[in-house]
Amino acid sequence: MLAELSGRALELEERLQIFMEEHVYPNERALLAPPREAERWAPRPLAEELTRKARTAGLWNLFYNHGPEGHGLSNYEYAHLCEVLGRSLAAPEIFNCNAPDVGNMEILATYGTDEQKERWLKPLLAGDIRSCFAMTEPQVASSDATNIETRIERGGNSYIVNGRKWWVTGAPSQRCKVAIVMGKSDITAPRHRQQSMILVPMDAPGVTVERALSVYGYEHAPLGHGEMMFDHVRVPAANMLLGEGRGFEIAQGRLGPGRIHHCMRFIGLAERALEIMCARAKSRTAFGSTLAEMGAVRQAIGQSRCDIELARLITLKAAWMMDTVGNKAARNEIAVAKITVPTMAGAVIDRAIQVHGGGGLSADFFLAEAFAETRFLRIGDGPDEVHREALAKAELAGLS
Ligand SMILES: Cc1cc2nc3c(=O)[nH]c(=O)nc-3n(C[C@H](O)[C@H](O)[C@H](O)COP(=O)(O)OP(=O)(O)OC[C@H]3O[C@@H](n4cnc5c(N)ncnc54)[C@H](O)[C@@H]3O)c2cc1C
Repeated sequence: MLAELSGRALELEERLQIFMEEHVYPNERALLAPPREAERWAPRPLAEELTRKARTAGLWNLFYNHGPEGHGLSNYEYAHLCEVLGRSLAAPEIFNCNAPDVGNMEILATYGTDEQKERWLKPLLAGDIRSCFAMTEPQVASSDATNIETRIERGGNSYIVNGRKWWVTGAPSQRCKVAIVMGKSDITAPRHRQQSMILVPMDAPGVTVERALSVYGYEHAPLGHGEMMFDHVRVPAANMLLGEGRGFEIAQGRLGPGRIHHCMRFIGLAERALEIMCARAKSRTAFGSTLAEMGAVRQAIGQSRCDIELARLITLKAAWMMDTVGNKAARNEIAVAKITVPTMAGAVIDRAIQVHGGGGLSADFFLAEAFAETRFLRIGDGPDEVHREALAKAELAGLS
């Protein structure tokens, strides 16, 4: 911790830690186990039960600072709580702090009309529904979002959406009721004014989730990632977010906090990996000494501590900048965290896997799935190269 947390944040952090010990860790394997085929995309009773408990305990919407449904925490304060809930891949959903719902709730709270908030934000904040965010497309390099080809065209009092999307996290879930879709509304406008974002109900005629995609074989059901088709989907004109041509503006606003939340969580995940690496090293003996007495293992542990401390400082600085100068002015710090933290967490988790031997690759520990998660985030929310490019641009222009 660099600066004191408020009493409220400290109290929430302590209660969150207790909840994790009592309810999340003991149920983690059951929560992360692949569901039976027939129930793949249905809500899981255990997750629903824990969600109810978290809500009753007031450990709900911890990220949200737009109104009474949240706790009004700063990004710096939330970073500490997010690290705690990030220790388990099963936890974010239970506290209604999971991607992409968090980013979508931020969009609706910041840019939504009263009607859009009533229809979609309210049930999302209550945890009654889930949402997805459909930007990436299989046929174009989507890290350059100007390539997005989906069309959002005006027709009378409606918009008609046509396009194919993939890697739409949350889409296959039965509880997913709305998609925020990015697409071109005016191909003659300047490059960064061509795209819009629009709310599309998942049950609108023409919306199909064609298949689920897995990450290193992990399907992440019942949330999961879908490939989707939007085939002449007609939605009311009132579903447009912020206005035609404002898609990039919204994307920038959404991705900043979303990116930093991933970083906060991964620090918790790396910290927990280091803990179990040490415990395992102390408990196993090979060739006459414990693993913990071996130089190579000790180096792995020492280096992991250095890596985590650096990454935490970078992330807290970015969070503090977001609080003090705003998300836009903090974009370089957010980019530094987004590049640094997933690679750091991947390296620490990889060392923990090595110290666990064969067990580290099994589903008996959380490590293998956690490793896959960190690998995805070197691509998701913008590949590392794109963020490095943005940093280089700022650096060369003397804007760092
Ligand atoms: C598990 C998972 C969940 C996801 N969830 C969502 C979601 O909910 N919604 C959504 O819309 N998308 C989602 N994505 C998609 C993700 O955001 C994209 O995969 C990402 O933005 C990259 O786009 P692309 O796959 O089209 O890669 P491409 O744009 O084809 O890029 C491929 C590679 O090219 C290189 N590259 C690109 N630009 C540069 C550059 N400027 N300099 C150097 N090298 C460069 C990078 O190595 C990059 O990885 C998810 C992805 C995964 C894996």
